Amino acid sequence: MRNKKCKICRQEFIPKYSTMQATCENIECMITYSSKQKDKKIKRELKEVKERNKSVSQWRKELQQVFNQFIRVRDQGKGCISCGRPLQGKYDAGHFYSVGSYPNLRFHEWNVFGQCVSCNQHKHGNLLEYAIGIEKRIGKAKLEELKSLRNDRLSMPLDKIKELIYEYKDKIKELKK
Ligand SMILES: [Zn+2]
Ligand SMILES: [Zn+2]
Repeated sequence: MRNKKCKICRQEFIPKYSTMQATCENIECMITYSSKQKDKKIKRELKEVKERNKSVSQWRKELQQVFNQFIRVRDQGKGCISCGRPLQGKYDAGHFYSVGSYPNLRFHEWNVFGQCVSCNQHKHGNLLEYAIGIEKRIGKAKLEELKSLRNDRLSMPLDKIKELIYEYKDKIKELKK
């Protein structure tokens, strides 16, 4: 069997029992490793219990956080969708089709872009300029598609919420690569 590096003391060792052996034969290393594994297992179980007991509104909250983070990462270094000014420090995630009127587009990535506080909060979304900015950003075809989706029925069962959380977490990872 090939040499491996002990997960605890980092020294090389020759596995004796199996290729899965994680530590050298130093008893300290073995004990430390097994207690770390136990901690991990306990943490994992706790997480599972928490997830099982999460309410729909808690899942929704998590989706909101993940989605906002995605928008921030995706739009980092780009200008405000409306006025084009560089986004720096605190800025908002502004909706083209408003959450109030079109709740089904709340978590649609073509409908939400980094927007400066001035445009988002003081100019009610600065929608005229938003319309120009969004077409530049996603193109006419996607904008038309978004428009056609805007009156779809809102359907956000728990499965869909979870799916979106995983989807946007993946996308954030991809963008950060
Ligand atoms: Zn060791
Ligand atoms: Zn702006």
